[in-house]
Order: sequence, then C-alpha cells, then structure tokens
Amino acid sequence: MGRLDGKVAIVTAAAQGIGRAVAEAFGREGARVIATDINMDILSELKGKPGIEIRKLDVTKKEEIEALAAEIDRLDILFNCAGYVHHGTILDADEKMWDFSFDLNIKSMYLTCRQFLPKMIAVKSGCIINMASVASSIKGAPNRCVYGATKAAVIGLTKGIAADFVGQGIRCNCICPGTVDTPSLRARINAQPDPEQALKTFLARQPSGRLGKAEEVANLAVFLASDEASFCNGSEYKVDGGWIN
Ligand code: NAD
Repeated sequence: MGRLDGKVAIVTAAAQGIGRAVAEAFGREGARVIATDINMDILSELKGKPGIEIRKLDVTKKEEIEALAAEIDRLDILFNCAGYVHHGTILDADEKMWDFSFDLNIKSMYLTCRQFLPKMIAVKSGCIINMASVASSIKGAPNRCVYGATKAAVIGLTKGIAADFVGQGIRCNCICPGTVDTPSLRARINAQPDPEQALKTFLARQPSGRLGKAEEVANLAVFLASDEASFCNGSEYKVDGGWIN
C-alpha cells in the first residue's frame, strides 16, 4: 500500500531536479501525478513511470493554469516547485531580473493557489507544499539576495494560506532545502570562472561534507503530502544536512 494511494497531485517544474524526484516519489506512493513543466523534451522522460501523466504548464502564464484547473475535478496535493536562482548581489540585479524572479518564484504560486485552493475547499481537504529555501528569511546567503527575497515571500505566502484555511481542511507547508545536487546547480557551478573552486566553496559550507540529493527532499515531500502529516501546517521544513543549525 502506498502512502498517497488514491490522491491526485500536481507537481510543477517536474522535468528535472527536485520536482522530478518528487513526481516520481508521489507516483511510487500511489498518487495519480500530473507532472508539469515547460521543457517537454526532458519531461517526456517521465512517461510510463508509475502514476505519472505529463503536461505542459508554464507557471507564469495565468491562462495555462486556468486551463489545467478547468480539466481537473479534484486535487489533493499541489506541489509548487518552479523557481529560478538569480546569482549576484542586489547591485547585479536589474529590474527585469527582479521582476522575472518574483514572477517565477512567487507570483506563480499565487496564481496556482488561487486556481486550485477552491477545489480543495469544496471537499474540505487538501495539501499545498511550496518550494522555499534556507536562503530566504532563514539565512542570508552570498549572491542570493533577490532569490532569498523571493523565497522569504514563499514562506510568508505559505503561512498566510495555512492561517486562512486551516478551518477548511487545508494544510499548507513549505520545504527549505540547503544545497541540492540538481542539473541547475551543476549549471550554476559550471558558469563560474573556476567551476572546481565553485564546487569546493559549496561543499565547504556543508557540515555534512556533501550536497543533498533530490530524493532526500522528495522523502520529506511525500511525508508532508501524506495523511501521516495531518497535524503539520503552516511550517517551513528545512532539509539541509545540518547547514543551518
Ligand atoms: P532545476 O532548476 O534543475 O529545474 C527547474 C525546472 O523548472 C526545469 O525543469 C525547468 O524547465 C522548469 N521551469 C523553468 N521555468 C518554468 C516555468 N515558467 N514553468 C514551469 N516550469 C519551469 O530544479 P531544482 O534545482 O531542483 O530546483 C527546483 C526548486 O527547488 C526551485 O524552486 C529552487 O529554487 C528550489 N531549491 C533548489 C535548491 C538546490 O540546491 N537545487 C535549493 C533550495 C531550493
């Protein structure tokens, strides 16, 4: 028996990294998973995995979110994973980059929650999990100023939704990973002038001596999405190998 048997889940940014690991884990635990992304080439690698169906969804496009919502009768789990890491200080971020980061990292969650929450409220049951980060209101990390501001907003959004809808059977939590080995992290490392040194710098700040794995974040997501987490609401959950302690 799976821990998510009979549940319907949407996962955004499911083509790679943490979103993909979460979609696969939800499917293995018995959920029907609508795995979404803008990159259909990579997303299609999930075809045929247990419980998974794939669908294009750009989370910055309100009309695409509305179209998906119109197709779905019931939703038990919304996992908002899409996010972009701006590298640099506030002085490196022009207004375009600021707006892009906020559109993708937080406005997208505003848009999805407004579409899918009413379906959950109608049946007085539902679970929203938002992807935040320890680089947020939890910790200021170098060169993550704009990113951290968006992720602090994710924590605020999460707590606000939890407070407003706790009486209607809704749970809303967020996950705050440390540094997780994903394709985009590797790309950020390789984009540095000295990639080897950049990897060493990432590793040097890990008390565990290693990067996290997407599957280790997915384990937490499965727990939060399951009925085992029935008393978990309005919280930010760190999964960072003891980085912030
Ligand atoms: P990633 O960056 O490797 O992949 C991101 C995915 O998002 C890609 O498949 C991409 O196609 C998709 N995407 C981009 N724009 C999109 C859009 N407009 N609509 C839908 N999908 C879109 O993934 P990752 O590193 O696992 O990061 C996933 C989430 O976890 C992000 O929110 C990130 O901020 C957060 N996070 C990551 C780390 C880390 O170290 N990797 C740490 C903390 C938090």
